[in-house]
Amino acid sequence: MNRCKQCHHTNLLMVSSLRYVFFMSVFPVVIAMAIGLLAEKIFFLFIPAIILTNIVLAKKKAPIILCKDCRHVETPQTRPAKETV
Ligand SMILES: [Zn+2]
Repeated sequence: MNRCKQCHHTNLLMVSSLRYVFFMSVFPVVIAMAIGLLAEKIFFLFIPAIILTNIVLAKKKAPIILCKDCRHVETPQTRPAKETV
């Protein structure tokens, strides 16, 4: 069982790369669509760019482990590297 490094609770939430892309993309994509519909159609071009950027970010950051108790966020970067020798 995984434990939070900060508060040692086991109340952890795993965010997979797919979820990460979804959650990070929904808000900016909705904004871009709204602006695209209401004002400039050029904003539709931002949608694939937003999703692509988040896929690239997800590949670097995910899976993210989130502690529900203390809101501590753990990414592969913050995790101590296991025997890099
Ligand atoms: Zn915690």
